[in-house]
Amino acid sequence: MIQAQIIYDDVRDLPNAFTFVQNAPPASSGVLSVFLDTSIRRVPGRDYLVFFRNSTRAVRTELAANESEHVKDFDLAVERVEEFLQHRFTPRHPGLALYISIDPEYFLAVPLPGRPVRDVAWSQQTVLTPLVEMMDEYEHVAVALVDKRSARLFMTYLGAIELYESFESDFTGKYAPGDFPRRTRSTGIRGGRGTPGKAGMIAWSGMAQTRQRRRHEEFALQHLRVVAQALMRMMHEQPFDRLFLAGTEEAVDMLRNNLPQPLKARFAESLPLPITASESEVLAEALEASQRRERESEVETVKRLVERAGAGGAVLGLEETLPAVNDGRVDTLVMNSNLAGAISICGNCGRLTTSNSVCPSCGSEIEKVPDLREQLVLDVLDQSGRIEIIEGPAADLLDRHDGLGAFVRY
Ligand SMILES: [Zn+2]
Repeated sequence: MIQAQIIYDDVRDLPNAFTFVQNAPPASSGVLSVFLDTSIRRVPGRDYLVFFRNSTRAVRTELAANESEHVKDFDLAVERVEEFLQHRFTPRHPGLALYISIDPEYFLAVPLPGRPVRDVAWSQQTVLTPLVEMMDEYEHVAVALVDKRSARLFMTYLGAIELYESFESDFTGKYAPGDFPRRTRSTGIRGGRGTPGKAGMIAWSGMAQTRQRRRHEEFALQHLRVVAQALMRMMHEQPFDRLFLAGTEEAVDMLRNNLPQPLKARFAESLPLPITASESEVLAEALEASQRRERESEVETVKRLVERAGAGGAVLGLEETLPAVNDGRVDTLVMNSNLAGAISICGNCGRLTTSNSVCPSCGSEIEKVPDLREQLVLDVLDQSGRIEIIEGPAADLLDRHDGLGAFVRY
């Protein structure tokens, strides 16, 4: 049973919320699943509240028309959400998901990193697709902002950013290799220069200059190797999918050339950010780049899907995908974010079908599935499959195949 009301206020709690909702027992009368766009432009006039009221009115009309015995429970759930939105909620993120039943302990709110497709649904099962979509969209991304002596390492996830480590290396004086990185700013004052009676300018001989430059390069190299080690540590503590580098060009090149293999494999691109960039600048740039990368990799996924379909490793289109879902053969389901279509479910064997008459497998009666996307997501999660929800150019490619396909286990 759900133990308490859960109101998350960190977007990074989304996976926890997801696990929670997924494992919650079905509510006897129904669960209200609510997805609101609470981005800045929806806040004036509390547009999200207006949307919620209009949507619930429409759902209620439908329930009443069907003479549902759960109208009262629905009203109670709506009241609880209304109270929350009015008095306990402050919009700080682009979206909000809510799951509520009449059970006083069944109340979950979680902010979303992006604007969801706005929706209000009342059903026995909780609606999970919008959460799956958000988690699929926002990966763990590391950003290293470096120059030849300093580094800031960030982790971005679900639209939030965190400074993992910040340091300056000082390889200019005496040092023991174990001492670094130092986390204090070095003064940069060197012996001789500031001493009274000595000339402020030092004229370097050509050879001394070359030696100085070489030393400088060696220090930079050592510093960037320390950065690479720190990134490895970071990856072991918090695995990330992509790595972006930014800062001064020379330092970025040096770091890139000294990345260990696991980091090389995750390196995506260099971002045009100055070493002085603020956290919010780093986040904005990293989000933009990783979403562009995500769109590109989705195109690759669809191309691979089409290729494999010819060789039996994948299925394409609704007619081929449904049997794979029914047989529990789906490794990764790939579907367009706007996937829609009419399918039915057999009341006896539970198989999904495009038939309009009876179940093609057992001949029993079938009933319409209200939400195709949600049904597929639930079934695929149930067979421990992964779900990839795509949009943009990749979705255009998959449109030729009903916007749906899957990599299959056999
Ligand atoms: Zn059947």
